[in-house]
Amino acid sequence: MSDRGGYSGRFAPSPTGPLHAGSLVAALASWLDAKVHGGAWLVRIEDVDSPRCVPGADRAILKQLADCCLHPDEPPIYQSQRGALYQATLDKLIGQKQAYVCGCSRQDIEAALNASGEMRTRGQALIYPGTCRHGLANKTAHSWRFFTDNSIPNEPLEQQIRVQSAPVSIANHVIEWTDRKLGEQSQNVALEVGDFVLKRADALWAYQLAVVVDDAAQGITHVVRGADLLDNTARQILLQRALSLAQPDYLHVPVVNGADGEKLSKQNHAAALDTSAPSAALTALQNAGAILSIHNDETDAAAWLLAATRLWAATYN
Ligand code: GLU
Repeated sequence: MSDRGGYSGRFAPSPTGPLHAGSLVAALASWLDAKVHGGAWLVRIEDVDSPRCVPGADRAILKQLADCCLHPDEPPIYQSQRGALYQATLDKLIGQKQAYVCGCSRQDIEAALNASGEMRTRGQALIYPGTCRHGLANKTAHSWRFFTDNSIPNEPLEQQIRVQSAPVSIANHVIEWTDRKLGEQSQNVALEVGDFVLKRADALWAYQLAVVVDDAAQGITHVVRGADLLDNTARQILLQRALSLAQPDYLHVPVVNGADGEKLSKQNHAAALDTSAPSAALTALQNAGAILSIHNDETDAAAWLLAATRLWAATYN
């Protein structure tokens, strides 16, 4: 690691397509915050969800960032090359009895929730009722889940997993944290989210595990990202605590909504940003800056960024 002045930030795009107007806001905000703090700005390509990744999108994103004069301070890393680290982390959680193998399909989860008379949902997702906490009961192993409840699993689970150490109990019922912009936050992960997936049934690593492992491995001290990810933060803090990792500071910035009122994303066909000409890159930065309430009259990208850094310091510090 280079000398990073006590601050390491990152931009962590999923290469599911080129940058769009929304993703540039997160890139710009994380870059500005790093520069204002005299720190390093890293780029991490989050390509664990390989079926959703588009070949070449990583290069397109890095080119668009460079067109906007947003240059990473270290070579980008790729999550697809870090499976061994994720596996070692999952093994650690299994050893601590904080992860267990699950054999439930969506239909199984629905049936269990129906039988309990409590159809617990969160948005579109069903809240997992913990069926496999105490063993697979002849089901085939599918995914691995984090044990959000701090009660100690019983005998059958101990047989399922490779027990390496004594159970670790963490007070994880309500995670409280302070966002630098949005203030006090709290979430009862066990109740509101349930035992979330760490490794998926298709053997792909889940975002929550990969992001926590990499933020720690890269020494990230400050996470600046879109407010659409706010709801994930408690799960990530819970994992950090389970793994005795340092908790970064969090700042969630506004997201860009499309004409349908939904967050702009590749799923709702957000247009790729054109940054090919200097004037187009400047326009892209100006539009991203407007979402962050940052405006200035500079007419080239580098000068615009320098002026934006001063405004960021006044607004977000
Ligand atoms: N890869 C995630 C995304 O593109 C961002 C993850 C993060 O910043 O924590 O939405």
